[in-house]
Amino acid sequence: MLRWPGMRVALLADIHANLAALEAVLRDAAAQGFDACWHLGDVVGYGPDPDAVVGRLVELEAPGVGGNHDGAAAGLLPLDQFVPLAAEANRWTAQTISPATLEFLRGLPQVVRDGGVTLVHGTLADPVWEYFSTYEAAERHFALQETPWSVTGHTHLPLVVRQGPVSGELDIVVPEHGGVVELGAGPVCINPGSVGQPRDGDARAGYAILDTGTGEATFRRVEYDIAATQQRMMAAGLPGPLIERLARGR
Ligand code: ZN
Repeated sequence: MLRWPGMRVALLADIHANLAALEAVLRDAAAQGFDACWHLGDVVGYGPDPDAVVGRLVELEAPGVGGNHDGAAAGLLPLDQFVPLAAEANRWTAQTISPATLEFLRGLPQVVRDGGVTLVHGTLADPVWEYFSTYEAAERHFALQETPWSVTGHTHLPLVVRQGPVSGELDIVVPEHGGVVELGAGPVCINPGSVGQPRDGDARAGYAILDTGTGEATFRRVEYDIAATQQRMMAAGLPGPLIERLARGR
Protein backbone atom coordinates (compact mmCIF):
# COMPACT_ATOMS: atom_id res chain seq x y z
CA MET A 1 0.00 0.00 0.00
CA LEU A 2 2.82 2.44 0.78
CA ARG A 3 4.94 1.35 -2.24
CA TRP A 4 8.48 0.61 -1.29
CA PRO A 5 11.44 1.19 -1.79
CA GLY A 6 13.21 3.95 -3.74
CA MET A 7 10.69 6.75 -3.47
CA ARG A 8 10.55 10.27 -2.11
CA VAL A 9 7.68 10.65 0.31
CA ALA A 10 6.29 13.88 1.73
CA LEU A 11 5.45 13.19 5.39
CA LEU A 12 2.51 15.35 6.51
CA ALA A 13 1.48 15.41 10.17
CA ASP A 14 -1.12 17.44 12.03
CA ILE A 15 -2.48 19.36 9.05
CA HIS A 16 -5.47 20.37 11.21
CA ALA A 17 -7.70 21.59 8.37
CA ASN A 18 -5.25 24.35 7.45
CA LEU A 19 -5.56 24.36 3.65
CA ALA A 20 -3.27 27.37 3.05
CA ALA A 21 -0.48 25.62 4.97
CA LEU A 22 -1.07 22.32 3.16
CA GLU A 23 -1.00 23.95 -0.28
CA ALA A 24 2.23 25.81 0.56
CA VAL A 25 3.81 22.56 1.74
CA LEU A 26 2.72 20.72 -1.41
CA ARG A 27 4.21 23.48 -3.60
CA ASP A 28 7.47 23.25 -1.70
CA ALA A 29 7.46 19.44 -1.90
CA ALA A 30 6.82 19.64 -5.66
CA ALA A 31 9.84 21.93 -6.03
CA GLN A 32 11.93 19.43 -4.03
CA GLY A 33 10.49 16.50 -5.98
CA PHE A 34 8.28 13.86 -4.40
CA ASP A 35 6.48 10.68 -5.49
CA ALA A 36 3.92 10.18 -2.73
CA CYS A 37 2.45 11.62 0.46
CA TRP A 38 1.79 9.82 3.72
CA HIS A 39 -0.14 11.50 6.51
CA LEU A 40 0.18 11.02 10.24
CA GLY A 41 -3.29 11.99 11.41
CA ASP A 42 -5.01 15.04 12.86
CA VAL A 43 -6.00 15.90 9.34
CA VAL A 44 -8.85 18.00 10.81
CA GLY A 45 -9.60 19.87 14.03
CA TYR A 46 -8.64 23.51 14.88
CA GLY A 47 -8.60 24.76 11.27
CA PRO A 48 -11.29 26.11 8.93
CA ASP A 49 -11.07 23.78 5.89
CA PRO A 50 -11.61 20.14 6.85
CA ASP A 51 -13.40 19.11 3.62
CA ALA A 52 -10.86 20.77 1.33
CA VAL A 53 -7.91 19.25 3.20
CA VAL A 54 -9.41 15.77 3.11
CA GLY A 55 -10.25 16.28 -0.59
CA ARG A 56 -6.60 17.08 -1.31
CA LEU A 57 -5.38 13.97 0.51
CA VAL A 58 -7.88 11.85 -1.42
CA GLU A 59 -6.62 13.38 -4.70
CA LEU A 60 -3.05 12.59 -3.68
CA GLU A 61 -4.07 9.04 -2.69
CA ALA A 62 -2.18 9.59 0.55
CA PRO A 63 -2.29 6.64 2.95
CA GLY A 64 -2.25 7.55 6.62
CA VAL A 65 -3.52 7.05 10.13
CA GLY A 66 -6.17 8.59 12.35
CA GLY A 67 -5.40 11.07 15.13
CA ASN A 68 -7.37 12.05 18.22
CA HIS A 69 -8.95 15.07 16.50
CA ASP A 70 -9.98 12.94 13.51
CA GLY A 71 -11.63 10.48 15.88
CA ALA A 72 -13.48 13.25 17.70
CA ALA A 73 -14.73 14.87 14.49
CA ALA A 74 -15.90 11.47 13.27
CA GLY A 75 -17.82 10.80 16.48
CA LEU A 76 -15.49 7.94 17.47
CA LEU A 77 -14.02 9.69 20.54
CA PRO A 78 -15.88 11.66 23.22
CA LEU A 79 -15.33 15.44 23.20
CA ASP A 80 -14.93 15.56 26.97
CA GLN A 81 -11.47 14.00 26.59
CA PHE A 82 -10.26 17.25 25.00
CA VAL A 83 -9.38 20.61 26.54
CA PRO A 84 -12.31 23.03 26.03
CA LEU A 85 -10.90 24.96 23.04
CA ALA A 86 -10.02 21.76 21.17
CA ALA A 87 -13.44 20.29 22.01
CA GLU A 88 -15.14 23.41 20.67
CA ALA A 89 -13.18 23.22 17.39
CA ASN A 90 -13.95 19.50 17.12
CA ARG A 91 -17.65 20.18 17.66
CA TRP A 92 -17.56 22.77 14.86
CA THR A 93 -15.72 20.30 12.62
CA ALA A 94 -18.20 17.50 13.31
CA GLN A 95 -21.08 19.82 12.41
CA THR A 96 -19.38 21.14 9.27
CA ILE A 97 -17.89 18.16 7.45
CA SER A 98 -19.44 16.48 4.43
CA PRO A 99 -20.54 12.85 4.45
CA ALA A 100 -17.49 12.01 2.29
CA THR A 101 -15.11 13.59 4.84
CA LEU A 102 -16.86 11.76 7.67
CA GLU A 103 -16.44 8.47 5.81
CA PHE A 104 -12.74 9.23 5.17
CA LEU A 105 -12.10 10.02 8.85
CA ARG A 106 -14.00 6.94 10.05
CA GLY A 107 -11.94 4.74 7.73
CA LEU A 108 -8.51 5.83 8.97
CA PRO A 109 -6.56 2.96 10.59
CA GLN A 110 -4.64 3.53 13.83
CA VAL A 111 -1.44 1.97 12.52
CA VAL A 112 -0.10 1.40 9.00
CA ARG A 113 2.84 -0.99 8.73
CA ASP A 114 4.40 -1.78 5.38
CA GLY A 115 7.82 -2.27 3.86
CA GLY A 116 10.28 -0.90 6.39
CA VAL A 117 8.09 1.71 7.95
CA THR A 118 5.28 2.09 10.48
CA LEU A 119 2.96 5.10 10.64
CA VAL A 120 1.12 6.03 13.84
CA HIS A 121 -0.25 9.32 15.18
CA GLY A 122 0.84 9.00 18.82
CA THR A 123 2.87 5.97 19.87
CA LEU A 124 2.53 2.26 19.17
CA ALA A 125 1.61 1.73 22.84
CA ASP A 126 -1.29 4.19 22.56
CA PRO A 127 -1.74 5.11 18.87
CA VAL A 128 -4.21 7.94 19.23
CA TRP A 129 -3.44 9.65 22.56
CA GLU A 130 0.13 9.15 23.77
CA TYR A 131 2.70 11.88 23.07
CA PHE A 132 6.10 10.64 21.90
CA SER A 133 7.71 13.15 24.22
CA THR A 134 9.21 11.25 27.17
CA TYR A 135 11.82 8.53 27.51
CA GLU A 136 9.15 6.20 28.87
CA ALA A 137 6.86 6.77 25.89
CA ALA A 138 9.77 6.28 23.49
CA GLU A 139 10.73 3.01 25.16
CA ARG A 140 7.15 1.72 25.08
CA HIS A 141 6.95 2.70 21.40
CA PHE A 142 10.23 1.08 20.36
CA ALA A 143 9.34 -2.13 22.24
CA LEU A 144 6.43 -2.51 19.80
CA GLN A 145 8.14 -1.21 16.63
CA GLU A 146 8.64 -4.11 14.20
CA THR A 147 10.02 -2.08 11.28
CA PRO A 148 13.36 -0.23 11.15
CA TRP A 149 11.66 3.16 10.79
CA SER A 150 8.51 4.69 12.21
CA VAL A 151 6.83 8.04 11.70
CA THR A 152 4.61 9.80 14.24
CA GLY A 153 2.80 13.11 14.71
CA HIS A 154 0.69 14.44 17.62
CA THR A 155 3.35 16.58 19.41
CA HIS A 156 3.57 19.12 16.54
CA LEU A 157 7.38 19.19 17.03
CA PRO A 158 9.94 17.96 14.48
CA LEU A 159 12.06 15.24 16.07
CA VAL A 160 14.25 12.24 15.33
CA VAL A 161 14.79 9.62 18.03
CA ARG A 162 17.11 6.70 17.47
CA GLN A 163 17.44 3.72 19.79
CA GLY A 164 20.87 2.08 20.11
CA PRO A 165 20.41 -1.54 18.90
CA VAL A 166 22.48 -3.00 21.75
CA SER A 167 22.48 -0.39 24.55
CA GLY A 168 18.90 0.72 23.98
CA GLU A 169 20.10 4.27 24.65
CA LEU A 170 18.10 7.02 22.96
CA ASP A 171 19.75 9.55 20.66
CA ILE A 172 17.62 12.64 20.05
CA VAL A 173 17.92 15.18 17.23
CA VAL A 174 15.74 18.29 16.84
CA PRO A 175 16.02 19.06 13.12
CA GLU A 176 15.81 22.61 11.80
CA HIS A 177 14.76 23.83 8.35
CA GLY A 178 16.89 22.11 5.73
CA GLY A 179 18.23 19.56 8.20
CA VAL A 180 19.02 16.18 6.66
CA VAL A 181 19.04 13.16 8.94
CA GLU A 182 20.44 9.78 7.98
CA LEU A 183 18.01 7.23 9.40
CA GLY A 184 20.29 4.21 9.28
CA ALA A 185 19.17 0.70 10.16
CA GLY A 186 16.97 1.80 13.06
CA PRO A 187 15.10 1.48 15.20
CA VAL A 188 14.39 5.13 14.60
CA CYS A 189 11.26 7.23 14.92
CA ILE A 190 10.77 10.55 13.17
CA ASN A 191 8.20 13.29 13.55
CA PRO A 192 8.05 15.66 10.58
CA GLY A 193 6.51 18.51 12.64
CA SER A 194 3.09 20.00 12.04
CA VAL A 195 1.80 21.33 8.72
CA GLY A 196 -1.14 23.23 10.13
CA GLN A 197 -0.34 24.26 13.71
CA PRO A 198 3.41 24.24 14.56
CA ARG A 199 4.21 24.53 18.27
CA ASP A 200 7.99 25.05 18.39
CA GLY A 201 7.86 28.84 18.13
CA ASP A 202 8.39 28.81 14.35
CA ALA A 203 5.07 29.68 12.71
CA ARG A 204 6.07 28.26 9.32
CA ALA A 205 4.42 25.01 8.21
CA GLY A 206 6.57 21.96 8.92
CA TYR A 207 6.98 18.70 7.02
CA ALA A 208 9.67 16.28 5.90
CA ILE A 209 10.65 14.38 2.79
CA LEU A 210 11.68 10.78 3.37
CA ASP A 211 13.84 9.23 0.67
CA THR A 212 13.39 5.50 1.08
CA GLY A 213 16.26 4.85 -1.34
CA THR A 214 18.98 6.88 0.39
CA GLY A 215 17.46 6.49 3.87
CA GLU A 216 17.53 10.23 4.49
CA ALA A 217 14.84 12.50 5.89
CA THR A 218 14.97 16.19 4.98
CA PHE A 219 13.09 18.55 7.28
CA ARG A 220 11.49 21.63 5.77
CA ARG A 221 9.72 24.78 7.00
CA VAL A 222 7.54 26.71 4.60
CA GLU A 223 6.04 30.21 4.79
CA TYR A 224 2.33 30.30 4.15
CA ASP A 225 -0.47 32.87 4.27
CA ILE A 226 -1.22 32.66 8.00
CA ALA A 227 -3.57 35.67 7.80
CA ALA A 228 -5.70 33.91 5.18
CA THR A 229 -6.21 30.90 7.48
CA GLN A 230 -6.90 33.21 10.43
CA GLN A 231 -9.54 35.11 8.44
CA ARG A 232 -11.28 31.87 7.48
CA MET A 233 -11.22 30.75 11.12
CA MET A 234 -12.78 34.06 12.18
CA ALA A 235 -15.48 33.74 9.54
CA ALA A 236 -16.21 30.22 10.81
CA GLY A 237 -16.50 31.50 14.39
CA LEU A 238 -13.66 29.30 15.67
CA PRO A 239 -12.18 30.25 19.11
CA GLY A 240 -9.93 33.34 19.21
CA PRO A 241 -6.96 31.74 21.02
CA LEU A 242 -6.75 29.07 18.28
CA ILE A 243 -6.68 31.82 15.64
CA GLU A 244 -4.06 33.88 17.42
CA ARG A 245 -1.66 31.01 18.20
CA LEU A 246 -0.97 30.31 14.51
CA ALA A 247 0.99 33.55 14.22
CA ARG A 248 3.19 32.59 17.17
CA GLY A 249 3.78 28.98 16.20
CA ARG A 250 2.71 27.86 19.67
ZN1 ZN B 1 -2.52 17.46 16.42
